[in-house]
Amino acid sequence: MESNLGNTVEQMKKIGLLTQSEIELLNKVDHACDELVTSEYESYIERKYNDQGPLVLAKNELMGIPIDAKYGGHGARPLVHALAMERFGQLGMGIVTLVDVHQFLGSLAIQQWGTEDQKSRILPDAATGRSILAYALTEPEAGSDPSSMSSSFQAKGDGYVLNGSKYLISNGSIARYLVVFARSSEDQLISAFIVDSKTSGFEVAMHLSEKLGLFTSDTALIEFHNMEIPKDSLLGKQGKGLSVAYSALLNGRIGIASGCVGVIEDCLNACIERARYRVQHGKPIGKHQLVQKHIAQIAINLESSRWPVYIAAMKKEELDADRRNQELLRFVDRQSATAKLIASRNAYDSADRAVQIHGGFGYSILSPVGKHLLDSRVARIYEGTDEIMELKIASSILGREFEAYR
Ligand SMILES: Cc1cc2nc3c(=O)[nH]c(=O)nc-3n(C[C@H](O)[C@H](O)[C@H](O)COP(=O)(O)OP(=O)(O)OC[C@H]3O[C@@H](n4cnc5c(N)ncnc54)[C@H](O)[C@@H]3O)c2cc1C
Repeated sequence: MESNLGNTVEQMKKIGLLTQSEIELLNKVDHACDELVTSEYESYIERKYNDQGPLVLAKNELMGIPIDAKYGGHGARPLVHALAMERFGQLGMGIVTLVDVHQFLGSLAIQQWGTEDQKSRILPDAATGRSILAYALTEPEAGSDPSSMSSSFQAKGDGYVLNGSKYLISNGSIARYLVVFARSSEDQLISAFIVDSKTSGFEVAMHLSEKLGLFTSDTALIEFHNMEIPKDSLLGKQGKGLSVAYSALLNGRIGIASGCVGVIEDCLNACIERARYRVQHGKPIGKHQLVQKHIAQIAINLESSRWPVYIAAMKKEELDADRRNQELLRFVDRQSATAKLIASRNAYDSADRAVQIHGGFGYSILSPVGKHLLDSRVARIYEGTDEIMELKIASSILGREFEAYR
């Protein structure tokens, strides 16, 4: 079957931007996506979580793309991971969400902030897919403002007791380990923890299946009832949980933005095909200038989304090699927010135009571009809404004293 990796990967190969092993990794992603097409669409039509997602990715050794080789992953650099997410995005945001939360938010948070013991205990199973990871920040009353969270922890004996609930948690009911954020009932500061879902007191209170789209991704309401967790569950320094949360989101936003680029690519490909063979008024609809206008705009959306994402990923590579560089950190933080804002808006706009080009068939549960329309909308909400991204970009230009969202 012809590869869907696209022209950019071909260009990067030609100018030597990708090594042979990186190309092989991307070919595996391409292969896994082909293998997932049927289950992804069947699950979407039945409006259920696609349980084949993690199995097929694990079989193709794709559950640990950014995890260090030392822990059994590929140790892929951010640009390669972005290209992989772009390919997953062609399949849809359901699979992008699974990969993003497990790998960018979960694994990378543990890789960056975990102790050697935490990393060697959790990452090898995450890399093979034996354990799935989730990231639990949002609560019913704390979304855009996580600093207002009410989940709490208290020191008890040689560990902590955790209470509270986390809302809209992707991979929430399938995860073995969750990166959870809670507030100290003593000094009120927020800390991050690695929580084992097999611990007594952990409850999946509800499967959230009433979403507008993204049915193939697992979303749950999680509760902690006097859950006793050991001392070595603490991730990073006590009281520094929001630093863990925000650094993970920086990675996650590059992943979501890359997935959105894939959505736009898939919409463009579908529209090119439809415009060539669907005949109305005696000619292919692609010969009508107003249809061409939509195709041109989707192509413009693709180009204007792709490069902000690649710049974010390439600058993230520099940051990974120079973690203490605060100026670079601020730049990458802003660039990942910018890339996510542009790509998620453009993905939704492209899916809307693609539905228009497909006419009545586009407005159907059986239409892949209709699926993209429903699924991509969430990218303008999760991991920071459009509005929060705009405020973040503005304050990063004006200075911290202008921060309007804390
Ligand atoms: C399918 C799905 C999966 C998700 N997965 C996860 C996950 O895995 N882990 C996780 O922790 N969370 C997850 N989330 C939660 C997601 O991150 C939140 O929904 C998001 O951060 C927004 O929070 P909220 O829904 O509470 O909206 P709110 O914060 O209530 O915002 C509502 C509106 O007000 C605007 N607003 C809020 N504050 C300001 C401000 N200061 N200035 C201007 N406008 C403002 C927002 O932009 C938005 O338009 C998921 C959400 C969905 C829908």
